[in-house]
Amino acid sequence: MTRHVAVIGAGPAGLGAAAGALRAGAAVTLIDSAGRPGGQYHRVPSDAYAVAAPVLRHPRCDWWPESTVWSIERPGDEGVPRVHVLRGEADEDDRERLVLAPDALVLAPGAHDRVLPFPGWDLPGVYTAGAAQALAKGEGLAVGDSVLIAGSGPFLLPVAASLLAAGSSVRAVLEAGAATALARGWTRRPWELAAHTARAAELAGYAALLARHRVPYRTGRAVTEARGDGRVEEAVTARLRPDWSVVPGTERTVPVDALCVSHGFTPQLELPVAAGCALRDGAFVDVDADQRTTVPGVSAAGEITGIAGAQAARTEGLLAGWIAGGGAPDAPAAVRTRRRRDQARAYAARLAAAHPIGAAWPGWLRPGTVVCRCEETTYGALLDASGDPARNSAHAIKLATRAGLGPCQARICGPTIAELTRTGGSPHNRPVAQPIRLGELARPPIESTDRKGNAI
Ligand SMILES: Cc1cc2nc3c(=O)[nH]c(=O)nc-3n(C[C@H](O)[C@H](O)[C@H](O)COP(=O)(O)OP(=O)(O)OC[C@H]3O[C@@H](n4cnc5c(N)ncnc54)[C@H](O)[C@@H]3O)c2cc1C
Repeated sequence: MTRHVAVIGAGPAGLGAAAGALRAGAAVTLIDSAGRPGGQYHRVPSDAYAVAAPVLRHPRCDWWPESTVWSIERPGDEGVPRVHVLRGEADEDDRERLVLAPDALVLAPGAHDRVLPFPGWDLPGVYTAGAAQALAKGEGLAVGDSVLIAGSGPFLLPVAASLLAAGSSVRAVLEAGAATALARGWTRRPWELAAHTARAAELAGYAALLARHRVPYRTGRAVTEARGDGRVEEAVTARLRPDWSVVPGTERTVPVDALCVSHGFTPQLELPVAAGCALRDGAFVDVDADQRTTVPGVSAAGEITGIAGAQAARTEGLLAGWIAGGGAPDAPAAVRTRRRRDQARAYAARLAAAHPIGAAWPGWLRPGTVVCRCEETTYGALLDASGDPARNSAHAIKLATRAGLGPCQARICGPTIAELTRTGGSPHNRPVAQPIRLGELARPPIESTDRKGNAI
């Protein structure tokens, strides 16, 4: 009988996984909560469909857009976890509830972009760089005329490129990391960079673009405050030491009508955690050389296994799908894919090491700075609660301050709260991964083992 692989996420990793599983001869259900394939990287619809077409048109593939996996149910000691899906538009009341029981599962739900708080970051006109990028790339919309881009990581560069293409004037790109750390990470072993000609060409292209538009790229400088009456009007920037503490007297104000900020990415770990997958350093899904997680029948690919960019995500997906679909691990194509994956990962690990978050960033905060936007919990309230010996756990601090208990369920503020309160722990334990209405929950689901979701 044909093996059935369910792939969650249709970004570069999920599309790669579906392609790999189809090549191995499996039948695939490709599930994504978005209405179109492509994930965060392929935002332009024509580009997304061009990349996805070979998978979506394949006779053994069933494409489920607007289908959200809200829960993963662990089986007993053996067996592949069951996948609980809501099919239909999120604002419709009558979404179909299905439970899939595939032979193998590939998890590829991607990441959120991470933003460190600072005074004024909650003003209208301050955007995560990912949101600004999504609007610019997907809709051709510029978030402002005069925009400052700040934070840390190579992602700031494509954001600058997209905003310039959308018609914004980019005042500067501010990288908080020190120039020496960047140089060490990006060019420490030039022969490695030569093995990544596409990445090197991409970086050179961004450098040329910024030079052509006279956009300064400054290292060791950050936005430490946003100010404005009702919306952002100016950003305060400051020079940073390598630990990201502010060098006194270096503050400058820059008039802007929009500010885009990004300090890296946070993987979406609720589904792998619900499936019982072990994490590496508590931060990413632990996978073996073939992208298999610690749970039998469950593989993982893309940003949930490490932040490495779209090409690495696709390569991981190809391997994960091939293995999940029953392909031979020693097939020549698998050996080649594994080698490409290893190269991409090694380069990404170096880039990540070049952009660490400096431990002294909380020095930018004031007692009144909001750290959890859903519940409007301030830094001061968090400090008071975490300094109280009676509240010495993450749970007690959350209950006292409500930090992380709002609609985002700590997806955005979780890592920040864990760092500020030094409570650690996994903020990813969310058995209900996505909101579900009580009416939908009460309805008996359709149980299915086939790729179309037909009732057993
Ligand atoms: C906001 C944002 C913008 C980015 N823009 C760029 C860029 O312009 N250039 C660049 O090089 N890199 C960009 N990145 C980095 C980029 O995400 C990765 O390099 C690449 O897209 C990772 O691929 P992926 O398949 O792992 O994840 P993604 O591309 O994020 O794909 C994950 C998919 O899973 C789906 N999904 C998640 N949870 C569920 C669920 N419960 N049920 C059903 N479906 C689900 C999502 O809808 C999404 O389509 C961006 C990242 C973010 C967060």
